[in-house]
Amino acid sequence: MAVTLDEQLLEILACPCPEHAPLRVGSPGDPEADALTCTSCGRVFPVRDGIPVLLLDEATGGPGNSEASGTDDA
Ligand SMILES: [Zn+2]
Repeated sequence: MAVTLDEQLLEILACPCPEHAPLRVGSPGDPEADALTCTSCGRVFPVRDGIPVLLLDEATGGPGNSEASGTDDA
């Protein structure tokens, strides 16, 4: 079941990345996921008990954090 967030809240929320880009509901692989995805950096933030956790430490995906982490460690 997809997380339902108030549209006004979604407008206020922004990714903590330097772009402070808006977020959209769901993850790249699952639009119904309880998560928010940054429209700029692609980080996926979890939503716990209806509360978005907009912390870079909690985010998955995004730059420098690919699924195959460690394989492209220049
Ligand atoms: Zn971002």
